[in-house]
Amino acid sequence: MIDADTPSHDPAAGSAIQPDLLARAISVTDLYTIGIGPSSSHTVGPMRAGRSFARAVLERGGTPVSVCCRLFGSLALTGRGHATDRAVILGLAGWAPDAIDPDRIPALLATIAADAALRLGGGPTVPFDAGRDLVFDRETFHPGHPNTLLLTCRFDDGFVLERHYHSIGGGVVIAADAVVAPANLVQPYPFDSGAALLAHAGDSGLGIAGVVAANETVWRAPDETSAFLDAVRAAMSACIERGCAAAGILPGGLGVRRRAGAISRSLPPHGAGNDPQSPFEWVSLWALAVNEENAAGGRVVTAPTNGAAGVLPAVLRYYEVFTPGATAEGARIFLLTAAAIGFLYKKRASISAAEMGCQGEVGVACSMAAAALCAVLGGSPAQIENAAEIGMEHNLGLTCDPIGGLVQVPCIERNTMGAVKAINAAYLALRGDGQHIVSLDAVIETMRQTGDDMRSKYKETSLGGLAAIVAHLPVNFVEC
Ligand code: SF4
Repeated sequence: MIDADTPSHDPAAGSAIQPDLLARAISVTDLYTIGIGPSSSHTVGPMRAGRSFARAVLERGGTPVSVCCRLFGSLALTGRGHATDRAVILGLAGWAPDAIDPDRIPALLATIAADAALRLGGGPTVPFDAGRDLVFDRETFHPGHPNTLLLTCRFDDGFVLERHYHSIGGGVVIAADAVVAPANLVQPYPFDSGAALLAHAGDSGLGIAGVVAANETVWRAPDETSAFLDAVRAAMSACIERGCAAAGILPGGLGVRRRAGAISRSLPPHGAGNDPQSPFEWVSLWALAVNEENAAGGRVVTAPTNGAAGVLPAVLRYYEVFTPGATAEGARIFLLTAAAIGFLYKKRASISAAEMGCQGEVGVACSMAAAALCAVLGGSPAQIENAAEIGMEHNLGLTCDPIGGLVQVPCIERNTMGAVKAINAAYLALRGDGQHIVSLDAVIETMRQTGDDMRSKYKETSLGGLAAIVAHLPVNFVEC
């Protein structure tokens, strides 16, 4: 069963290529979702799982008398820093990540804690004590996926409803016993590889963004897709503005200071004085702004994940500010092209850091943004594919090691690096003719195999890398 709140065409699971998944269509509305921070897999996904389970309880009927949640693997190891506990509780209470007001969350949680009870799915009240009913099982990794949670509800007639959910990246959750029917969709230009995408783009004459736009027509009219993309762009832009206006210390206890506000006030206007570093400082600022908002639990666009949510908005803003003649249609082409590349990573590998490390998050976002920028700067399909490949090639092996389990260090700065690297990749590709040694398909497969070989302590567990080293240093050694 797939959560009704999540895309019904996206049953990706595990890092091995799934033959059935290759044949299944993914929409731009699956890839770009508006949710809350700090993590798509550890916050957005578990909230959706809790909400889906609450709905199953209501559908069963009867009188529930208790509900509990057990978090496994990466969800248990970094769950507190990623607000997984709070997300599950809110999901059980019926809240959805795209609808909840981030500013109301503290009060909602305080009420549940004070009442020692919650209303399942907004319906029947059941006792709930997070200290008793929410278990962080750090010893167990579920064989189905490293991000797994078990939800259990007992009824007064003795019936027990139990369901395992996998949070597979990008905010998508699937029930562990999901039986996914083949999608009854026939896209005009189906593709499951970079090679097939290039062939369609060339044969049809539509280019990469045009192929994606044509495929989206199986779900909705073209003007509706345009409206969706405009809403995504607006949400990304609003997130940048909020981040640039904010100040203070990020939650979680690391003492990380928000920097975007102060930097935005200190930077000279775009392009003033022709400072050679100006574009890079602005791009870094925009990425910082988004990821500080994400770390604060604010509203962000999952693109393709929350931890990597700053890369695409920063590069899109770079296009809009620093490219003469930038248009709203260019922004749509940017997002469609990025989506084409994101689909390939979802189909052929994974965008879950618990499976791929940070190469699957910031690396994928960099690859998507590189292709997108290359497209709106006039790149050919071959150059766009080259840009996407460069964007990943130099992120291969990137581990996930967030200090304290918080999506702050190295995550926030890492997005600035991903954005700048994406711009460099786009210009490198534009200087070539599209011919290159390593294909996009080859680099995606390399990322997948590297992720499979990576030790689990480097895959969103905070047991290795910076998370392990910095934990043993005095607190004033902590970055930022
Ligand atoms: S290190 Fe990368 S993958 Fe890990 S939480 Fe931070 S941004 Fe996400």
